[in-house]
Amino acid sequence: MKTIAIYPGTFDPITNGHLDLIKRALRIFDEVIIAVAPSQKKQPLFTIQERLDLIHAAVKGLQRARIEAFNSLLVDYVRKRKGNAILRGLRAISDFEYEFQMAHMNRRLNTNIETVFMMPSEEYSYLTSTVIKEVAFFGGSVKGLVPREVERALHDKFIAVRFNKK
Ligand code: ADP
Repeated sequence: MKTIAIYPGTFDPITNGHLDLIKRALRIFDEVIIAVAPSQKKQPLFTIQERLDLIHAAVKGLQRARIEAFNSLLVDYVRKRKGNAILRGLRAISDFEYEFQMAHMNRRLNTNIETVFMMPSEEYSYLTSTVIKEVAFFGGSVKGLVPREVERALHDKFIAVRFNKK
């Protein structure tokens, strides 16, 4: 039977850290479904469609990666997609507390779904979408930390933001 990992997140935007994790998971699972949450509360910079398009461009070479938006309880979505596990990344201790809460809550909601944690390569262990947006906003280079399409999209987005402010 095919093993499927569901990788949920905001992906605002996708970084090379996310990609590193997806590639690692594809060594273990037959398929990884990147499940993009609208996360309106976080006031994302990119729309859900923009985030999906950027992920599509970034995973083009990865045959067994799929992308989908979801807007329901995660465990219900995982069950609907017949997922075997929820995939989450652990970068540093700071991630642990939140992930610990989520994993236990999800286990309480559905005891059959496991959460699997993976660590990215060291060079991405300090990388967050938030830091990327901050650096890009002030014109710093994020080359090598995000896919090329994301670099371009950040550039365009912040030019538009500055232009509108004037
Ligand atoms: P969320 O809003 O759910 O935290 P994110 O898009 O920020 O969504 O992150 C999705 C998942 O990817 C989380 O498990 C997060 O820990 C993980 N992640 C984010 N950045 C990295 C990275 N640089 N390396 C490994 N995992 C990461």
